Amino acid sequence: MAKRDYYEILGVSKTASADEIKKSFRNRARQLHPDNKDSGDEVAFKELAEAYEVLSDAQKKSAYDRYGHEGVKGSTRDFDNVDFSSFQGFGFEDIIDALFNGGGRGFGSQAGRNGPRQGAHLRYDLDLEFLDAVFGVEKKITVKRLEDCTSCEGTGASPGSELKTCAICQGQGQVKQMVNMLFMQSYQVIACPDCQGSGKKIEKPCKDCKGVGQTRKPREFDLKVPAGVEDGTRLRLTQGGDKGVKGGPYGDLYVVIHVKEHERFIREGRTIHLRQPISFSMAALGGELMVPTVEGSKILTVPGGTQTGAQLTMRDLGVPSLDNPARRGDQIVHLVVETPTKLSKEERKLLEQLAELRKEKLTVGKGAEAQETVSAGANQSKKGKHKQNANNAQAEAEPESILDKIVDVFRPKNGEEKED
Ligand SMILES: [Zn+2]
Ligand SMILES: [Zn+2]
Repeated sequence: MAKRDYYEILGVSKTASADEIKKSFRNRARQLHPDNKDSGDEVAFKELAEAYEVLSDAQKKSAYDRYGHEGVKGSTRDFDNVDFSSFQGFGFEDIIDALFNGGGRGFGSQAGRNGPRQGAHLRYDLDLEFLDAVFGVEKKITVKRLEDCTSCEGTGASPGSELKTCAICQGQGQVKQMVNMLFMQSYQVIACPDCQGSGKKIEKPCKDCKGVGQTRKPREFDLKVPAGVEDGTRLRLTQGGDKGVKGGPYGDLYVVIHVKEHERFIREGRTIHLRQPISFSMAALGGELMVPTVEGSKILTVPGGTQTGAQLTMRDLGVPSLDNPARRGDQIVHLVVETPTKLSKEERKLLEQLAELRKEKLTVGKGAEAQETVSAGANQSKKGKHKQNANNAQAEAEPESILDKIVDVFRPKNGEEKED
């Protein structure tokens, strides 16, 4: 059965503060806890307790936020095995305190704490070149993870020294203890505190691992990065994390992809945007030019009468879909008409002739300042804040502002999109 979302169980949003989470938990727990004759529901209460255990713990919460239930697997207490009948006759606050304020350690399933446990999940941050993210790449990554200590082969005992049977529990790993909590009136079986439930005691701890049995070792993995990953994509290497304890499985390794920016291409999902300056005459007359694509330079045909901001789509030259590499996005070329800034005498003359031919007025008449500049010909995009310094404005903007430009200026307006 699929597990429900912890935030949903607690009825809080993902941005809820610790206080809100606590408040909501207490309200719901009060309703659901098995002692409540009217609305008590043991199954729902256990679900709630588990959700709260994760979301009230900063570390577990962040693992859950990042990786979902997978990220906190094995790290919650086994509430299914908590016997709530032992709570009978005790107040709600006592139960909550026992569960969450440290008092709960003495009951519940001991197997969860002392039995085999999966190792921790690890995270590795991988920087990728723009094109490697587009086409995929094979990488070798080295991760330091917990593995069995080689000196003691994971026993934690100094080589040559023996593991002795624990004298406290006679090798049973469990002891009976009088439990000192209000609602526990009898003996309870708990893990032997002397040997932590193993039944064995190390006489001389291993020097290399200080008796833990595990050390962090570099381990190399071959990582296949599929085509189409993007910034923030997580790849999971099953069993790539820390070794489990007491025979528990390895945790997983999550590789988080960081894609470097490209000096020309801007990626938006599977689409690649390119800002391409074209000359004044090409904009008017049309023509062909070579533009960069992720597959190298390709010919782009520009139709005559092209305006700044026109978009030309180059089909299937975008990013492959991560799920289905056969499906590819497009490259969209955002054309920017470059107005010449320096004119030779001859050029100036020709442009003046052209203006005359087209009956374009370059001045506003008597009394007004003459604006004898070619930028007067740019009669589109009059709306909004125009560049204050049109005479000096270079069409070639700084790369960091390109995205803004694409978002604000080059976003296709209805019916304006051109395709070739
Ligand atoms: Zn060791
Ligand atoms: Zn013991």
